[in-house]
Amino acid sequence: REEKSKMPHYAGLENFKLIEKMGDGAFSNVYKAVNRSTGEKVAIKVVRKYELNSTQDGNKHLNEKFKQRPRVTERANILKEVKIMRDMDHPSIVKLLSFSESREFYFLVLELMEGGELFHQIVKLTYFSEALARHVILQVANGIRYLHEERGVIHRDIKPENLLFERIPIIPSNNPTPRKYDEDKEDEGEFIPGVGGGGIGRVKIADFGLSKVVWNEETKTPCGTVGYTAPEIVKDERYSKSVDMWALGCVLYTLLCGFPPFYDESINVLTEKVAKGYYTFLSPWWDEISSTAKDLITHLLCVDPDQRYTIDEFLAHPWCHAAPAPAPQTP
Ligand code: ADP
Ligand code: MG
Repeated sequence: REEKSKMPHYAGLENFKLIEKMGDGAFSNVYKAVNRSTGEKVAIKVVRKYELNSTQDGNKHLNEKFKQRPRVTERANILKEVKIMRDMDHPSIVKLLSFSESREFYFLVLELMEGGELFHQIVKLTYFSEALARHVILQVANGIRYLHEERGVIHRDIKPENLLFERIPIIPSNNPTPRKYDEDKEDEGEFIPGVGGGGIGRVKIADFGLSKVVWNEETKTPCGTVGYTAPEIVKDERYSKSVDMWALGCVLYTLLCGFPPFYDESINVLTEKVAKGYYTFLSPWWDEISSTAKDLITHLLCVDPDQRYTIDEFLAHPWCHAAPAPAPQTP
């Protein structure tokens, strides 16, 4: 009851009852809410208008209206996020159900992902077994394949905070360092080959706030050009896709061992490590992880974007097709 009274009221959101805060990103508050007329549970991302920057026409107007200085932060236009999300239709992409705005805020009504961030599951579990990591990463990869190859969209912010579980995954969490996914703990939910029952549910890609369209599906041309496409534009399209593949490599690395491939307390040192692609499969954490998994990561965390795997190369890699472990014997 206390919690409920703390929920803010937004003019223009009267048709929704806010239940709890699910997340706050740097630029938004996300609430779990119920549609009062349909009873449908949703997530609503509330973005304050005057915090947006003014690099796009739409925002310039807003900033003037609110007499606010634009943020220095590079932040894509929320309307672009909406436009990109609006016609996405894939089981690995969080759906935008509706969009509205008030004087002060934008409201993105989203498919509710009750299970929260993949990030929290990594923190909770320490790390994932290869089978479980495969199950998660293949869903993400299929989402990326849809974005890159079918929609011409680059996400540009793939990370565990932006990968969400449809429902609270049933993964054993009583073992602080679970080397193996514990199949005995499984009871209900869908059966995952090689992983067990337990129903970890779907994982979907959220947060298209930094995403960018590089390929126009209607005209079948790179965006912003009408023929006479220069090689650097074509290359740029390929390079920008490769940023998602690097990020996917970082996510996979982190899933398998529980810490990210690049880290340093000093931002300068960290930047240098990333620039040089300096990372290792640190012992003892990586000792028991298959060489196939390491091979795949090597092709993703590859500094030269021309050498880096594309999404189709990723999906064709043997690690993605590893034979599932035999199902647990039922006596
Ligand atoms: P930002 O651009 O501020 O990072 P996000 O779209 O990533 O905004 O949302 C911030 C956080 O809110 C996410 O990391 C997640 O924890 C939560 N969140 C976002 N969308 C949903 C959703 N559809 N269902 C449940 N939680 C969500
Ligand atoms: Mg985010």
